[in-house]
Amino acid sequence: MSEKKALVAGAGGFIGSHMVERLKEEGYWVRGVDLKFCEFGDTVADDFVIGDLRDPHVCRHVVDRHFDEVYQFAADMGGAGFVFTGENDADIMHNSAMVNLNVLHACYERNVRRIFYSSSACMYPEYNQLDPDTPNLAEDSAYPAAPDSEYGWEKLFSERMYLAYARNHGMEVRIARYHNIFGPEGTWTGGREKSPAALCRKVAMAEDGGEIEIWGDGLQTRSFLYVDECLEGTCRLTRSDFAGPVNIGSEEMVTINQLAEMVMEVAGKKVSLRHVSGPLGVRGRNSDNRLISEKLDWAPSQPLIEGLRRTYEWIEKQVKAHAEVQPQ
Ligand code: NAD
Repeated sequence: MSEKKALVAGAGGFIGSHMVERLKEEGYWVRGVDLKFCEFGDTVADDFVIGDLRDPHVCRHVVDRHFDEVYQFAADMGGAGFVFTGENDADIMHNSAMVNLNVLHACYERNVRRIFYSSSACMYPEYNQLDPDTPNLAEDSAYPAAPDSEYGWEKLFSERMYLAYARNHGMEVRIARYHNIFGPEGTWTGGREKSPAALCRKVAMAEDGGEIEIWGDGLQTRSFLYVDECLEGTCRLTRSDFAGPVNIGSEEMVTINQLAEMVMEVAGKKVSLRHVSGPLGVRGRNSDNRLISEKLDWAPSQPLIEGLRRTYEWIEKQVKAHAEVQPQ
């Protein structure tokens, strides 16, 4: 049997670089493309193109052959500190929409049919996420649409575009709505990091008995999915005959204060929490996994604390290495 080929767009980023590793382990020939190389180590891709996917010529250049699977992870994105301040709205919408328009069209022109698109739980309506205890994130609750960020609106637009290419051009699109994916080798500092990475960094930098800052009252709820679990769900979806959109997340909902306590537990440190104002997002969010369980028989295999252990260990090493390079 001939070797399967995959294209990973956004292969220099967090989920994309992990996906390249997984596909290589599975024996695929893999091409990665990104604006930048992976920040945290060499890529194992067979071919890695540095290119801007907003440019249709770059997209045509990287989609120059048949690919069995295309994974589209490239997006201008970050955590609450990037998405909810309002300062990056135009870039988020313009850059990510351009990437999706051009990657999808290049695949269509080349007759590359099977493409996975990474949407986000941020596309769900804000009005269903006001109560921290009972948020509604069932897939069919998406409309009437009212995401709380331009990031969510772009995801919704792109979902619809992928589905339109499926209807009109016979593309085999697969769409997942990711819920807070975390793990080693993700952004952990600099303003684009998400809450698990930010809390691991803060705890790693704090003295035992010290203090860390939490944005808001810390009572907002979220669920978090370890990256390996996300890849398993993504591959199952991409290779199935179910298009989605479908949630890929965890149903283990915690408050941000509880998440901080869990990080302290894995770190073996006790610090106090100082609540300060900051960008927050919705009040409550949790994955609803009924549909993916029914269609793909998928659910996370490990509790949150296990993924936090591995993530904390990696971030602690980054913090120490950083401190050696830049002594205080
Ligand atoms: P990431 O920021 O680490 O990776 C995205 C990559 O896309 C980056 O390496 C970036 O350089 C690249 N990129 C951006 N613009 C590009 C362009 N014009 N041309 C080429 N490359 C470009 O993000 P991630 O956490 O790996 O997320 C991957 C995908 O999953 C994104 O689409 C994101 O919106 C989606 N998602 C992620 C999460 C999460 O919790 N990480 C949650 C929901 C959805």
